[in-house]
Amino acid sequence: MDLNDTPDQAAYRTHVRDWLAEHREEAPKPRRRGGEDDSLNVDEHRAWQRALAEGGLVGVTWPKEYGGQGLGPIEQVIVGQEIAKAGLPGILDTIGVGMLGPTIIASGTEEQKQRHLGPMLHADEVWCQLFSEPAAGSDLAGIQSRARRQDDGSWVLNGQKVWTTNAHFAAFGLLLARTDPDVPKHKGLTMFIVPMDAAGVTIRPLRQISGEPEFNEVFFDDVHLDPGSEVGPVDGGWGVALTTLMFERVTIGAGSEGMGYRADRFAAALAADPDAARDPEVRQRLGAISADLLALRFTGYRILTAIQRGQIPGPEAGMSKITAVRAAIEAADLIADTLGPSALEEGEWSYLTSFLPGLKSAGGTEEILRNTVGERVLGLPPEPRLDKGVPFSELRAKASA
Ligand SMILES: Cc1cc2nc3c(=O)[nH]c(=O)nc-3n(C[C@H](O)[C@H](O)[C@H](O)COP(=O)(O)OP(=O)(O)OC[C@H]3O[C@@H](n4cnc5c(N)ncnc54)[C@H](O)[C@@H]3O)c2cc1C
Repeated sequence: MDLNDTPDQAAYRTHVRDWLAEHREEAPKPRRRGGEDDSLNVDEHRAWQRALAEGGLVGVTWPKEYGGQGLGPIEQVIVGQEIAKAGLPGILDTIGVGMLGPTIIASGTEEQKQRHLGPMLHADEVWCQLFSEPAAGSDLAGIQSRARRQDDGSWVLNGQKVWTTNAHFAAFGLLLARTDPDVPKHKGLTMFIVPMDAAGVTIRPLRQISGEPEFNEVFFDDVHLDPGSEVGPVDGGWGVALTTLMFERVTIGAGSEGMGYRADRFAAALAADPDAARDPEVRQRLGAISADLLALRFTGYRILTAIQRGQIPGPEAGMSKITAVRAAIEAADLIADTLGPSALEEGEWSYLTSFLPGLKSAGGTEEILRNTVGERVLGLPPEPRLDKGVPFSELRAKASA
């Protein structure tokens, strides 16, 4: 494991730092989570992503012909680290640029790449990920949204998605739908590009307990999709979805160096009460959280080393996510136990307490990630899979609709 920048990486870091110093006035103020100014100003963040893109700091790993920089994942990580160090906000469309754009680069047609990647990079068109459904989250291949092919090669889409982050200001979504129910569930799926302003698309915001409406439910009623809206092969959508999920893991894994939660900030919050700071039980709980965050930092270095060597991070990225979220939840509990209800009335700690439990589910639930570690790292027997080889239409759990 080499933790130091190479001379080229150090020069790149300096270049990024200088650019950020020169342009920092263009950035929107970072959101103070849980405060009165919490709502996301989409226009300001769109303009900031555009500025970053023009400075060459968005789509760092994308090929040059699609507006990227053609650099490696370590340079992408350096950009993320420098933006965080400068206390500046990141891009508006992490899901598009980090996961959906790379999926289109890997599986889309040349026409799709030319049409969509530039506006995505510059945040002129924000994207959303239309995968999860009410009965298809962990079991993603259980998707029931249905696309039927018409004689002219177009498609008619019906169904519902849920937990769709950013759908309320997205221009397009990447959507997984069932196109053949008479084959086993992983086989009859196709990935589509869906314009979010198409007739028959209804977007309803879901307000979280933290107060933010970041997700939505999205309904599709006889939505017409033009011929050529498919990304990758018809009925081969599962492979395309796995590409997106792999980029999701890398996006989360590469950024998981504590997910921004730092023990010194927790300690500073607790120091507001001098008695608490001297209490051995409080110190012991804070010590355990700090140890987890330290282990996380070193796991983060292992992930970066794997990326640097051209490997794709494995289950350690999932373990990092579990540890970061759990440590932050324990820290929020400790702050609540120690400082009392006043700490939770508003501001960052109230936000942390109410929003973090949701993060246990995002990007793969804790239980599913633990199953992966059990099977792939510890060599435990796989879970029984009763639906293997059974056509989707014959699965008893499917909805009658
Ligand atoms: C902050 C956030 C943002 C999100 N953004 C998006 C988005 O933009 N687009 C999108 O498509 N989705 C999004 N999601 C949805 C996310 O991918 C799902 O929440 C996740 O896949 C889990 O699915 P589910 O919520 O349906 O839970 P379920 O799959 O119904 O699981 C419910 C519970 O059962 C447990 N469980 C399920 N199966 C097993 C098993 N085999 N073994 C053990 N335990 C099991 C789970 O761990 C969980 O605790 C987002 C979620 C969150 C929280």
